[in-house]
Amino acid sequence: MVFTIHYGFTEDAGNLKESRCGLLTRAETLEQSPLRGCGVRHAPLRSQKPFPRTLNPVFSNEDYLAELLTEAGLVSADDVTRARNSLFGAETIIEHLLGHTLLTQEDVARTLAVNAGIPFVRLAEQTYEPGITETVTEETAKRYRVIPIQDEGYALTIAIADPLDFETLDSLPHIIGRQLNLLCATRQDILDHFRQFYHSGEPLDGMDTSGITITTGDIEADKGGDDAPIIRLVLQMLSEAFRVRASDIHIEPMETSVRIRYRLDGKLVHVDTHPKKLLPAIVARIKVMSGTMSIAEKRLPQDGRIQLKMADKEVDLRVSSVPSNHGESVVMRILDKTGLLLGLPELGFFSDDQATFEQLITLPDGILLVTGPTGSGKTTTLYACLNVINKPDRKIITVEDPIEYEFSGINQVMVKADIGMTFAAALRAMLRQAPNIIMIGEIRDPETANIAINASLTGHLVFSTLHTNDAPSAVARLADIGVKPFLIASAVRAVVAQRLVRKLCPLCKAPAELTDKEMRALSMDASRVVDASIFGPVGCDKCRNNGFKGRMGIFEVFLVDDEVRQMINTGLSTNQLRRRARELGMRTLREDGIRKVLAGITSGGEVVHATMSDAE
Ligand SMILES: [Zn+2]
Repeated sequence: MVFTIHYGFTEDAGNLKESRCGLLTRAETLEQSPLRGCGVRHAPLRSQKPFPRTLNPVFSNEDYLAELLTEAGLVSADDVTRARNSLFGAETIIEHLLGHTLLTQEDVARTLAVNAGIPFVRLAEQTYEPGITETVTEETAKRYRVIPIQDEGYALTIAIADPLDFETLDSLPHIIGRQLNLLCATRQDILDHFRQFYHSGEPLDGMDTSGITITTGDIEADKGGDDAPIIRLVLQMLSEAFRVRASDIHIEPMETSVRIRYRLDGKLVHVDTHPKKLLPAIVARIKVMSGTMSIAEKRLPQDGRIQLKMADKEVDLRVSSVPSNHGESVVMRILDKTGLLLGLPELGFFSDDQATFEQLITLPDGILLVTGPTGSGKTTTLYACLNVINKPDRKIITVEDPIEYEFSGINQVMVKADIGMTFAAALRAMLRQAPNIIMIGEIRDPETANIAINASLTGHLVFSTLHTNDAPSAVARLADIGVKPFLIASAVRAVVAQRLVRKLCPLCKAPAELTDKEMRALSMDASRVVDASIFGPVGCDKCRNNGFKGRMGIFEVFLVDDEVRQMINTGLSTNQLRRRARELGMRTLREDGIRKVLAGITSGGEVVHATMSDAE
């Protein structure tokens, strides 16, 4: 059973809580009130713009657009009236019609195009000049919802979603500094291409379609009725978490309330508080969505999975419920299976490390290992590597637990230990499929380690991860697992250790100095900061007042050359390996972090924190 629900809510000056509380208040009076006249659902008029950053596809003049659509015979006047009378929360007429499949996005865009006297286009069918994105900054494209297509010299051809928005039409030529040839495309199309073009993880402001389809669980059972406000509340929680790229959602019962926190860039952020009486309904709703968790069982921990589509992206949620002293606590981890558009620079490699890395990942055979503690971004790095080398002439196979991102063109196998599909079993089976490149989620047992080593010595390039703090320790770790030193020496090509640090928000960061404590912790002397452009966090509404936005890796690349190979063979200690590697030019995690501080990308405190436990 697939149930699609479209909804939206208003984010006024970054304040999401207000509109949610509004929703709940209204929800509580659902019977008495037809939920109208709440004041937030109306499409903002151009001149007023009362809600500058809505999450809905709100067009500049929805009433006029509805009229045009009716005139064009795409929707009946009755449907429009019905839509107008059954709006909920911040939902708009057009959104309602789209949500009830009475209209398609293309209907809307074509109508707008005809009315504005400009051609309608599908962005996938256009040819784009290389470097065309440089003509319009990411900021402008995002703000005005446009995609540049062709540079005609005298003018720039761009696609726009709302040609009725005269404010945009007036401002854009000045901001871009060119004459514009306009084309009209659907909002979804522009959103999708924005992500591809600007490699941004963020949806365009006001462009999240918020269409969520849940594909697990018994949705029919509680469709509508008294549960509708809770359904919306939970979906809004998910949608907002997804929009801000949270990695997990924490629903935590307190003594008299329910606290909602998101993990953003590795840190928990308090986003909302609900009345305690809503807890049972919220937890029950989430369990229903999973389809496998028991609503009746509240005294034992449970695990489940929710699969859904958000804004046309497949998203997997890992759900865990645990009874606590104040009630059931739920954590949902978001696994966005299609959201990966990472290249090596996005991971945080500086060009020198990137060049080394690009050479490594095109080797014909051998093992490349990425090491670090849990949450250090190892898997993301492996995925970025696969993304670079995923070409039609190579067969790439992965064994993972779980599959966090889905690639087209790569055969991914998920480990299911309970039915005997262990890393080792999956790996043996996959080798019969004659792959060129193998990715193993993690090496943690002798069997997997030895299969991986053998594969790499028989013409396969193998990528995997290990739990060690620094790169040279990987050698000792493999030996501990039970791999013979001479095999390690001949199979391992390189080990990359990594940590994640938060990136300073580029919009609000300000020049800063390192404290004496930071200088000491980073073992830096004053001479190094003389010509540096060091910045510190400030906070603005674009970064939720964190001062940081997004994360990047800091890396330690340990190359196994002939000399190191000889050292591994003779069984030298990790310390000896490390010392020699540094003599040969290996940059440590901390040193890589320092260069990113000196370049103003992250703060001194971040690097101190990330490398606290590392030996110098
Ligand atoms: Zn900021």
